[in-house]
Amino acid sequence: MPLTHSLQNHMARDWVRARHQRYLDARGGKGHEADIVGQEIELDWEKRKAAVDGKCKCNFCSRNLQLVAFRCPSGGAVACLPCKMRFSYYGS
Ligand SMILES: [Zn+2]
Repeated sequence: MPLTHSLQNHMARDWVRARHQRYLDARGGKGHEADIVGQEIELDWEKRKAAVDGKCKCNFCSRNLQLVAFRCPSGGAVACLPCKMRFSYYGS
């Protein structure tokens, strides 16, 4: 049974949280949150052509995907570029 959108999105957010935590830990951990605000954190989401797997809308904002999409390896949520960028910053 395919995963529901909301479960995929939940898994993607967990993935993002883990990446942000790892980034913070590598820079001193707790207490250094302010240091990493505004820095782009690599999510390692798979960049691919839009509309692969028959998906043509972003999981998060329902915008039509344009040229590229970013797929979270955990759960398979697909994000548009603006949503992926939003997730790439600490605190998002
Ligand atoms: Zn989006």
